[in-house]
Amino acid sequence: MRYSLVADAYERIEATTKRLEMTDYLVELLKKTPKTVIDKVVYLTQGKLYPDFIGIEIGIAEKLAVKAVAKATGRSEEKIEADLKQTGDLGETAQKFLENKQQVTFFPQPLTVERVYETLDKIAKSTGAGSVDQKLNLLAGLLADAEPKEAKYLIRTVTGKLRVGIADMTVLDALAIAYGGGKDLRPLFERAYNVSSDLGRVAKTVVESGPEALKNFSVSLGEPIRPMLAERLSSPKEILEKLGGICIAEYKYDGERVQVHKNGGEVTLFSRRLENITSQYPDAVEIVMESLIPEKVIFEAECVAVDVDTGEMKPFQELMHRRRKYGIQEAAKENPVSLFMFDVLYVDGRDLTLETYPVRHKILQTIAKKHDRIRVANSIIADNPEKLEKFFEEAIENGCEGLICKSIREDSVYQAGARGWLWIKYKRDYKSEMRDTVDLVVVGAFHGRGKRAGTYGALLLAAYNPKKDEYETVCKCGSGFTDEDLANIPKMMSAHQMLHRHPRVESKLEADVWFEPKIVLEIIGAEITLSPIHTCAENVLREGSGLAIRFPRFTGKFRSDKAAEDATTVDEIVEMYRSQLKTIES
Ligand code: ATP
Repeated sequence: MRYSLVADAYERIEATTKRLEMTDYLVELLKKTPKTVIDKVVYLTQGKLYPDFIGIEIGIAEKLAVKAVAKATGRSEEKIEADLKQTGDLGETAQKFLENKQQVTFFPQPLTVERVYETLDKIAKSTGAGSVDQKLNLLAGLLADAEPKEAKYLIRTVTGKLRVGIADMTVLDALAIAYGGGKDLRPLFERAYNVSSDLGRVAKTVVESGPEALKNFSVSLGEPIRPMLAERLSSPKEILEKLGGICIAEYKYDGERVQVHKNGGEVTLFSRRLENITSQYPDAVEIVMESLIPEKVIFEAECVAVDVDTGEMKPFQELMHRRRKYGIQEAAKENPVSLFMFDVLYVDGRDLTLETYPVRHKILQTIAKKHDRIRVANSIIADNPEKLEKFFEEAIENGCEGLICKSIREDSVYQAGARGWLWIKYKRDYKSEMRDTVDLVVVGAFHGRGKRAGTYGALLLAAYNPKKDEYETVCKCGSGFTDEDLANIPKMMSAHQMLHRHPRVESKLEADVWFEPKIVLEIIGAEITLSPIHTCAENVLREGSGLAIRFPRFTGKFRSDKAAEDATTVDEIVEMYRSQLKTIES
């Protein structure tokens, strides 16, 4: 097949603003494409050589592409660079220079799709010493034989700027029209794509064996399933109405979504965007190998960074340190992850995606052995708004973003690749920084683990309620302490240690160690939230709820100049919460 057919189609598609026309041009192209290269043409229209999860990218730097254009056209790199400054598109520059080529190719070989694909594949796979020269020569070789228009699209393809904008769904439409007898069979195409994430394979199957063969597509190990996504509503009442009055509500953990494929001794992790991210999470791979029971399994989980010393979840940003090639082991040591499993899609040869959520959820409880660092997402069955709201507050309080409420009806299948109403997320739409620090009283402590064995992992802190003359808990704080602080605090607190909770302390949490309220620390947090766990201002703003400080940190200041009774009061915390709400509303 001549590559010029592909370039012509790109040109038309690029010029139109109408979606239907775009599909028509693509249909024309696919009809002209021989069976043998249909998958390759499909990948090329997406600017790729393989589906994303394979992880092979063409990726040529613009500087190298400039060199290739210079080499193929016999012009200096400076000239090419100068023109590029004006056009801003090396593809266009290449086209222009090829039209006025100074160097004649004696026996030009017209470009075929096969040759283009193979050459780009070699470029993509060339690594190590000498690879830069090899890439340059391969690309220049293609350009030397290319027509100007072909050169434009070749350059755009190799530099990752194809810009024709053909979405996955447009390719599926076009395939259904070209080979599937019209759009009626479209859902079949979509399902095949959603479970395989491989448009090229879908195309090849249809062209070689007809659309009926798509029915044989099922979930398979090593091919990521396109993720199911959630809609959003902002009140528990609406959520329950939408889900038929009852749902499974789960914590929405604030980490990175991973789709885990375990095939015997091999574990692969895919990101939400279906890239292979296994190398970023050696610790997660280890956890999976230690705990997962089935030989072959695909499940989804949220990967969350956890503080080694306190066991508390850290905000999502901590995982960003994993986005690099080197130092992953160090990052994994500093911020190891825990996995919270929230769905299971395949177990030992059985595709579960068409099972209802209650069935999948039940299986989910059985796939992992008891393990410190992996478990099923916290959940409840909720059938009234109050229960849902309470669970939501608890989730926020525990460092989560909110809830994902999941349908448990007959149709609650795993809707791969779709954002639908079977899952509804409930997050607060606002976030606001706490502007002021607060001074809180140490009323209890929790034993540390790991590096903090022998000292405290977190302190239980309280605000003062002068009306009742008692201390009401408002957070557990394990961050912001230096090694020196950690060594000193147990010594300092030992004078105030008690065998039980101090009578003036109101707490629903059971601390490991209790203290007489004496020591005051300065704390800064991210925000103040409603909380079912803490007793600060309980029932003041809402029946059954108190207030909590989220992500508290010790500022480093011991307020030894303050007595416990001088600590921040419960009323002040209520006021801070109210003004935070006002800021959000205004
Ligand atoms: P957001 O930015 O709110 O996470 P999103 O577009 O990435 O949104 P949504 O489908 O809207 O994804 O929300 C679901 C996301 O929440 C999932 O992608 C997953 O990463 C995360 N998540 C955390 N806990 C759960 C859970 N228990 N069930 C499903 N998804 C969960």
